[in-house]
Amino acid sequence: MLSWVVYMARLNFLNISIDNLSSMELLQQLQSGGTVYTPNVYHLLRLQRDRDFYQVYKQADYCICDSQILWIVSRLLGRPIREKISGSDLFPAFYNHYKNDETVKIFLLGAAEGVGEEAKSQINQKLQREIVVDTYSPPYGFEDDPEECEQILQKVNDSGATVLAVGLGAPKQEKWIDRNRAHLPGVKVFLAIGATIDFEAGNVPRSPRWMSTLGLEWIHRIVMEPRRLGKRYFNDALPFVWLVLAERLGLYRDPFRDDQVSLTSR
Ligand code: UDP
Repeated sequence: MLSWVVYMARLNFLNISIDNLSSMELLQQLQSGGTVYTPNVYHLLRLQRDRDFYQVYKQADYCICDSQILWIVSRLLGRPIREKISGSDLFPAFYNHYKNDETVKIFLLGAAEGVGEEAKSQINQKLQREIVVDTYSPPYGFEDDPEECEQILQKVNDSGATVLAVGLGAPKQEKWIDRNRAHLPGVKVFLAIGATIDFEAGNVPRSPRWMSTLGLEWIHRIVMEPRRLGKRYFNDALPFVWLVLAERLGLYRDPFRDDQVSLTSR
């Protein structure tokens, strides 16, 4: 780490605040529990037009930087993010950090049928311990089915899990956590981890480390899932460049700034 870089503890980036923690600091702080969201370019764009997502984000205990592109842009803007901690790096770092802590019991929610079970057996085998206690792959459209949601809560509560790792993609996973965390009294840590369950199962390969260090993980992901992600990244590029320019020139205005006043004055 370069000694002349001054890091703010929390920094504002467009309309979110990022916790400027190292991964070790975050892992240690999670001992006391918390909800972790991992903003990337797609989240930031969505946060400009999805009021619910914006309000959900305001309730997070930790927002950490998921994206090397954001990390680079933060430096260009003179507000350097200390470390990129993507959900897919945080999750294995988390279970390795807590592998000897018997109170840590993980439930994996998300990914296609069978993928969660595969991830569970890979992780438990690696750690030589049943740290992942259960998994569930909800059917398509489950979030609009109250009965299904009730069953999920029951399943997580019955499992004795203290950590819920939710891989449903954004913004579904963050909204689901926000709506349901009060009904999961045993869960202390909520991690929104996107496609990480797929990575843990070996279902979708992660990019080589050098690509993610250079901010090129998105190229690898497009090659892996061209139809779904190609369109997403293509559509995101120009609006994101514009937002960054606006921020740099002091022209950016938070579309939900009035909500922020009412949220903080609660
Ligand atoms: N997913 C799911 N149920 C849904 C929608 C998505 O289980 O209703 C899973 C999907 O199988 C994949 C992950 O959510 O494992 C999507 O991850 P995505 O690539 O969108 O997340 P990112 O890492 O980009 O946030």
